[in-house]
Amino acid sequence: MIHYTCDRCKKVINTDLDFRYEVNIVTQVVLDAPELTGGEVEPDHLNEVDDILQRVDEAECEQLCEDLYQARRFDMCTSCFIKYKQNPLGETPQQQVEFSEN
Ligand SMILES: [Zn+2]
Repeated sequence: MIHYTCDRCKKVINTDLDFRYEVNIVTQVVLDAPELTGGEVEPDHLNEVDDILQRVDEAECEQLCEDLYQARRFDMCTSCFIKYKQNPLGETPQQQVEFSEN
C-alpha cells in the first residue's frame, strides 16, 4: 500500500478517509515578443535568454535553468488544499493598514 504524505502539513494522507489532492505548478519565464509590444526593441533582446545561458557557468546555469522553467508536483490533504485554494500564492493576509495622507 502506497502512503502519501501531505507536502504542506506532512500528515499521512489516508486515502480511505480523505481525498488526496495533486497540485501541479509550472513556472516559466515569459519574454514579451517585440511584435506584441509594438516598440523598437534591440535585436539582441530576442536572444536574451540564450545570451544569459552562454555567459553563466554550469553551477549558475543549474540555478538559472530551474528559474526559467520549473514544474513541481505536490500532494495535499483536504484541509491543506482548501487553504491552498483560498490563497495559492501564499500571500500574507492584508492587514487593514491606515496610510496617513501627508
Ligand atoms: Zn495537509
